Amino acid sequence: MRYLYFLKHFSKWFLLLALLLPFVAFPQSITTVEPPFWWAGMNHTELQLMVYGKELAQTKPQIQHPGITLKETTYSNNPNYLFLTIEITPETGPTIFQIRFETGKRKAPIINYELKEREEGSSQRQGFTASDVIYLLMPDRFANGDPDNDHTKGMLETADKTKPDGRHGGDLNGIIDHLDYFNELGVTTLWINPVLENSMPDYSYHGYAITDFYKVDPRLGSNEEYRLLIQLAHKRGLRIVKDMVFNHFGTNHWWMNDLPMSDWIHQWPEFTRSNYRSGTLTDPYASQWDKDLMLKGWFDHSMADLNQDNPFVAEYLIQNSIWWIEYAGLDGIRMDTYPYSGKRFMAEWMQRIRNEYPDFSVVGEVWLNTTPQVAYWMNDAHNSDSFNSYLDYVFDFPLKYALAEAFNEENGWSSGIARLYESLSLDFLYPYPQQLVVFADNHDTDRIFSVLKHDIRKFKMAMAFLMTVRGIPQIYYGTEILMTGWEHQGHGFIREDFPGGWMHDSVNAFTQTGLTADQYDAWTYMRLLLQWRKNKKVIHEGKTTHYIPEEGVYVYFRHLDGESIMVVLNNNNESKTFKTERYTENLKGYSTGTDVLHRTYFDQLRIISVPAMSARIIELKR
Ligand code: CA
Repeated sequence: MRYLYFLKHFSKWFLLLALLLPFVAFPQSITTVEPPFWWAGMNHTELQLMVYGKELAQTKPQIQHPGITLKETTYSNNPNYLFLTIEITPETGPTIFQIRFETGKRKAPIINYELKEREEGSSQRQGFTASDVIYLLMPDRFANGDPDNDHTKGMLETADKTKPDGRHGGDLNGIIDHLDYFNELGVTTLWINPVLENSMPDYSYHGYAITDFYKVDPRLGSNEEYRLLIQLAHKRGLRIVKDMVFNHFGTNHWWMNDLPMSDWIHQWPEFTRSNYRSGTLTDPYASQWDKDLMLKGWFDHSMADLNQDNPFVAEYLIQNSIWWIEYAGLDGIRMDTYPYSGKRFMAEWMQRIRNEYPDFSVVGEVWLNTTPQVAYWMNDAHNSDSFNSYLDYVFDFPLKYALAEAFNEENGWSSGIARLYESLSLDFLYPYPQQLVVFADNHDTDRIFSVLKHDIRKFKMAMAFLMTVRGIPQIYYGTEILMTGWEHQGHGFIREDFPGGWMHDSVNAFTQTGLTADQYDAWTYMRLLLQWRKNKKVIHEGKTTHYIPEEGVYVYFRHLDGESIMVVLNNNNESKTFKTERYTENLKGYSTGTDVLHRTYFDQLRIISVPAMSARIIELKR
């Protein structure tokens, strides 16, 4: 029996022994290899391995394996790193190949490197499109599915729910527990804020100070749980968007004790902050000084600035993103601080992503206030310098700003509701306006219900607009239950815990228990809008025709293949009744309609009335 057992497990033991061998026997030893594994059959046939270990510069790596060639070994100015460029022929199947780090002696450190088998259809994955609605959530603040991981050994910060900027214990299991909620509400895509390890002493919950690019933070869960979350989400028809950061990483990353190369990061004689002026990159008159500070200055004390002009850094980041898409089964990426990593590198990255996954979706955080500046960064933009970003989706920050003013201001030539009209009128600058991600708030901004002065009528108008305008709506967790918060109070106040996510919460938004009347009203309104939008191709793909607002009433149509939706926003404190002659070009052929929000039937369309501060979304009928 024992003999049989040994035989059965022989290969496993052998592999384990082979993996452990390099760590024990040699003066030169290997601590880390990144990426930790790769896949056979990728379109890009080159693979860069970063190998870290004591005095590796004294070794000469060798690979002898059919289909796999060591093209180049790059010795860094740090003797503890080697960069291996490996060529894998397209015919090479899943395998484990050996890399020997020859020392001139009989024994040598060895890596057994695995090329895994790709999952079927991996390269054909479909990213989000305008038929989706994205729900943004911050995992530490959404739901605590596993209180045991709130305090994790080895991590510097433990959970403390009393601190606005502390960790609160939310995790991936909390999201898994509530996947049904997203279906019930009607959102189709989750953008989950960064999940990778952030072992920083404080203010680590937000996830933007990554200390390990290949590991989910143990306080949120594990790599396996992240993968499971995505598999379970897919079963419910939900897509998952990973929040990634290429510009910077946490200063507690092990690299900072022993940099892979002296120019791996941008180094300054003393701490130097970025000027955060992304606009300098498109400004024809910008000084090099300003541009350099924008690109090379650090985002914060705790965030070291990566040098993507170093081709090894660039390749490291590109492979890291592909690794996560392939490993976890991602549908999309939201890239943080998009312009900060430099436009040439980012364009190269986009092309590499497309090369592997033609239908994958990437949305870039190009946080600029004006339409021309944002438009510059969209794929195929008509740029005078011929730059093409290849970036599919950008956030519509200009429209977000317009939305914040539109319902609070007096209506005028270009104020109040006219802001929405004017913002949309600039769409000629965008090659693909339907590829804008439209939103009212996110984890870095004032919450929309605060901005709208706690007026649920304004809130409903804003949401009706978001769900019917061109583009992909993104809503921020808690918006559906009127969560509030101002950015100037501190980020913790715009990222409060979602009620019901923690044991003993007195309010449970997942079951709508304990909500105020207004919150419940908002929630059912959002559900109605979201469920309605799901199957409205005319909203996803339709053309837009809008009319100059008159007397604070803004009317636009979305139309496609003989189907038409009329949206009316009345931004006045009194109801409005108006004749519809001026909309004839859109109303021709239609005689009746139903307002999907109020379930109101219009037996004629010649005269329409709209209550004070409200929206109508009218499905036109012939
Ligand atoms: Ca937890």
